[in-house]
Amino acid sequence: MHISIKGRKWAVIFCPLKDIPMKNGETLLGLCDYDNKTIFIADTTHGEERLATLTHEVLHAVDDKLTEKRVKDLANGVARALWKLGYRRIES
Ligand SMILES: [Zn+2]
Repeated sequence: MHISIKGRKWAVIFCPLKDIPMKNGETLLGLCDYDNKTIFIADTTHGEERLATLTHEVLHAVDDKLTEKRVKDLANGVARALWKLGYRRIES
């Protein structure tokens, strides 16, 4: 699946957790690969966790200058609000 972020085409790939590189010894549920314009999301995520992970990685793609803490705060707030408002993924 591809999406456009600030006019650039990005791939979004849902893959096994083991295919997402670890960072600082930590297992990641998502990764934003700027060089390849690809967002990886663990296919083990579901529901609000997937929404929060996807929001987090998209925010990194939108602004690579944001700190990790800022991205976490924004993503968690946006995902929580959207989930509470009833936004859900529709499988097509
Ligand atoms: Zn992050």
